[in-house]
Amino acid sequence: MKLNCNQTYIFRVCPGFHLFLIALIWKIISVILKRKIMDASITIIGAGVVGLAIAENMSENHSNVFLIEKHPSFGQETSSRNSEVIHAGIYYTKDSLKAKLCIEGKRLLYDYCRKYEIPFNNCGKLIVATSVEEIPVIEGIRQTAIRNGVDDLEVFERDQISDMEPNIFALKALFSPSTGIVDSHSLMKRYETNTINNGGQIVYGSEVTSISRINGGYKITILDSDKGIYSFTSETVINSAGLTSDKVSEMVGIFDNNLQILFCKGEYFRINPPKNRLISRLIYPVPHPNMEGIGIHVTIDMGGGVKLGPDVKYLESNVYDYKLTVSKQEAFFRSARKFLPFLEFNDIAPEMAGIRPKIQKPGEPLRDFYINEESERGYPGFINLIGMESPGLTSSISIAKYVQSLISKSSTRACS
Ligand SMILES: Cc1cc2nc3c(=O)[nH]c(=O)nc-3n(C[C@H](O)[C@H](O)[C@H](O)COP(=O)(O)OP(=O)(O)OC[C@H]3O[C@@H](n4cnc5c(N)ncnc54)[C@H](O)[C@@H]3O)c2cc1C
Repeated sequence: MKLNCNQTYIFRVCPGFHLFLIALIWKIISVILKRKIMDASITIIGAGVVGLAIAENMSENHSNVFLIEKHPSFGQETSSRNSEVIHAGIYYTKDSLKAKLCIEGKRLLYDYCRKYEIPFNNCGKLIVATSVEEIPVIEGIRQTAIRNGVDDLEVFERDQISDMEPNIFALKALFSPSTGIVDSHSLMKRYETNTINNGGQIVYGSEVTSISRINGGYKITILDSDKGIYSFTSETVINSAGLTSDKVSEMVGIFDNNLQILFCKGEYFRINPPKNRLISRLIYPVPHPNMEGIGIHVTIDMGGGVKLGPDVKYLESNVYDYKLTVSKQEAFFRSARKFLPFLEFNDIAPEMAGIRPKIQKPGEPLRDFYINEESERGYPGFINLIGMESPGLTSSISIAKYVQSLISKSSTRACS
């Protein structure tokens, strides 16, 4: 091939230019080759509410998106064993991911529910002080909320409280108008439907058993429900495996004591009819100082049920222990009775339990969500979501957007 005058001039004046050109062409070819040989562009592990929201978002923007779930259907673990509250973002540490993603997520979730007709109720919540000592705590909570950008809280005195909720007892209360509840099953179903409609592939009954780093991505091995073992490759891997997300992270080679999940059980009791009809909002006591939990509170659900709980108990080992402890009835009754004076011991009965994937050890200060693209540990394109406890449901859409931004940043880095 003959070079024209301008081209020969460039090569003469900049002798390194042809090397640069070769490197550029090589880079383009290798990027194309890598793309071609990968089976999936993005693989998400875990079809809980967070993994599903991520799958919906990714499948809108990318082709070849896979969501792998070990159970035969979605939301079989923590995502169907929670309070279904759309949190306002009141309690979290300023500038934490929990605070930011909860506040953004709440707004996005209400919009999403309206758009797709998912049952929800923006019923509001009262945080109640039932003793004189608790009254100053109310102001502290209001200040934390304001620092987080939640500036719609109102302080209510006794008469205002009894106008709103005539059957409860409180000396003072903080009202959060943006708190609500959502039908989490319908929400997950919609994330699933949209993922499929976008062309994403959801593979149920398949457990990820190993992940290894290969040139340009990862090799993922799965064990299916017929005990078949299969492997495929993926450019990006998103670990949204909830209670076992630390184990999935270890599969690729990331061992970090700070990211070890501790199973932390929360049990609920229900308030039997007809007394469940005596409340129409969420009622919370003032929270425990280190926020291991936010106290035995009262939540309502879209079916008209009313639950007390959850309590907080770190399990001695990470076992899926959803057993209910009937002997806790007395403790639940006594806690709730402080603000529900109408309650009798036999009005409540054990309901269900969930397990929080905590990275916060007992007695430690509140830990944030761990959401990270792991290039710095030598795993580019591997995104970890660990410690996705509350407000993970509320924040699911904003978490998905945040993960999308991490992927965009990592591909910009890879190309530069
Ligand atoms: C008691 C309790 C109350 C809560 N209340 C609220 C609330 O009111 N509001 C709120 O916003 N949040 C609440 N939360 C938090 C919320 O439930 C979680 O943040 C959310 O459900 C986490 O979703 P996830 O998708 O990360 O995890 P999960 O729902 O646990 O999903 C993870 C999925 O990964 C799958 N998986 C794991 N390992 C593998 C593997 N190797 N291969 C394939 N699949 C795998 C699992 O089977 C599971 O389906 C509460 C949590 C608890 C425990």
